Amino acid sequence: MDAVEILKGLKDKGVRFTPQRQAILEFLLATDIHPTAEDIYKQVKVKFPGVSLGTIYNTLNMLKEHGFILELTCGDMSSRFDGNPVNHYHAMCNRCGKVVDFPCDLVEMDKYVAEKTNFIINTHNLVFYGICPECQKEQQH
Ligand code: ZN
Ligand code: MN
Repeated sequence: MDAVEILKGLKDKGVRFTPQRQAILEFLLATDIHPTAEDIYKQVKVKFPGVSLGTIYNTLNMLKEHGFILELTCGDMSSRFDGNPVNHYHAMCNRCGKVVDFPCDLVEMDKYVAEKTNFIINTHNLVFYGICPECQKEQQH
């Protein structure tokens, strides 16, 4: 989905977006780095110096609650945010913090867990941790 569709979807639900909030959404949709709230704050601040970290968090929470973005919780590290809400998987580098996407049939795990537990599974959260190829090269020097 692009920003225009998401903004329309939110408007239909009675949620109005300020230009600051739009900038947060647009940045998140345009990047594949899976930024932290701080990263987004630094970026949006360039164009909107008055924006607060609180506005960033509010906006991210609201987009998440409406299912337009994903939050990847990473243990005791800062959450990372993803403009692609379709279930997919992530690997995170312990050294540089890079997060990459990978497609995987593990999405079927929802069904498996539902069968085993009789839960209705809404979502799940899975991040694989390791060392990325660039950091592996640096470690060899
Ligand atoms: Zn790395
Ligand atoms: Mn992703």
